[in-house]
Amino acid sequence: MKVTEHIAKAKQTLFSIEVLPPLKGQTINSIYETMDRLMPYNPAFVDVTYHRQEVIYREAEKGLMKRHVVRKRPGTVGICASLMNRYNIDTVPHIICGGFSKDETEDALIDLNFVGIENVLVLRGDPAKTEGIFKPEPDGHAYASDLLQQVVDMNNGSYLDPELKDTNKTDFCIGVAGYPEKHYEAPNFKSDLKYLKKKVDLGAEYIVTQLFYDNKKFFQFVEDCRKAGIEVPIIPGLKPITSQKQLSRVPHFFHVDFPDELVDRIEACKTNEDVKRVGVEWCIQQSEELIEAGVPVLHYYTMGKATSIAQVAEAVFGK
Ligand code: FAD
Repeated sequence: MKVTEHIAKAKQTLFSIEVLPPLKGQTINSIYETMDRLMPYNPAFVDVTYHRQEVIYREAEKGLMKRHVVRKRPGTVGICASLMNRYNIDTVPHIICGGFSKDETEDALIDLNFVGIENVLVLRGDPAKTEGIFKPEPDGHAYASDLLQQVVDMNNGSYLDPELKDTNKTDFCIGVAGYPEKHYEAPNFKSDLKYLKKKVDLGAEYIVTQLFYDNKKFFQFVEDCRKAGIEVPIIPGLKPITSQKQLSRVPHFFHVDFPDELVDRIEACKTNEDVKRVGVEWCIQQSEELIEAGVPVLHYYTMGKATSIAQVAEAVFGK
């Protein structure tokens, strides 16, 4: 079922999660463990992230460096198929511009369609670690809106080869990313909102937000979106803090601020167990306030760790 159908049918706020593929060389069991912990809370769908390949240089003979292209977390499509089969759950694979030509994207979308996947979250992807700014492939997409247009075209039966006749129309429900605290590259919030609206005008049917710790910023974002004429469902993304280190890592990687009260409470913790408890309490508070405000879904980023999210889900959805 599509994410939008889940939302339309729901009588109350839904629970959903995001998982990330295991590191190359590991088994899929860590994902099954996460799912086994969280399935009792009845997630409506599960997102599976996509990780672009990276270029790394390893020392070779005679002091030379050899270039290697590695994908550290492959397996998004296989994980989606496996989760659908094992848990009878709808999956939302992420698809990205980075590292993909348009032809490769088309083939990936055909795979997803044949596997029976009905949803995609369309993203640009971050720059490769070796590049400061995002560089599209020579025949790839520069922005999520361009990739989105390709998915919309396939939904209309239009493939890259104009000579293809009587083509299958795919029917993907398309989600996109939104940033309550602004995307870090956008010159200002107004500009970011303009491009978010462009994605919706092109056919995005719902928005999932970057994680945030201050609900006021989410409420303001929703208000600004509505004023700009963005009417699709906006799904808040949440992640409980689980260690003191995340006080600097989360702002660094996700470009979001922590509220003063949360920083004070985490800084006062003596152990990581205390931090986890504060993180769970804060996330429960955020979740309850968001439910009260009538959000359609609460989407939790597991990032490979299910324990805190299971505690939040037990408090919020386990009643
Ligand atoms: P875009 O919508 O393309 O926007 C990127 C920037 O360009 C913004 O600053 C925007 O304002 C600007 N912009 C957009 N269109 C134009 C235009 N036409 N002209 C000029 N400027 C423009 N990354 C991954 O690699 N894999 C994942 O699985 C993944 N999952 C994510 C899930 C969620 C819910 C979120 C919020 C992020 C995720 N990311 C993931 C990270 C995401 O790829 C990065 O945040 C990336 O830097 C931006 O992606 P986007 O889709 O928002 O890009």
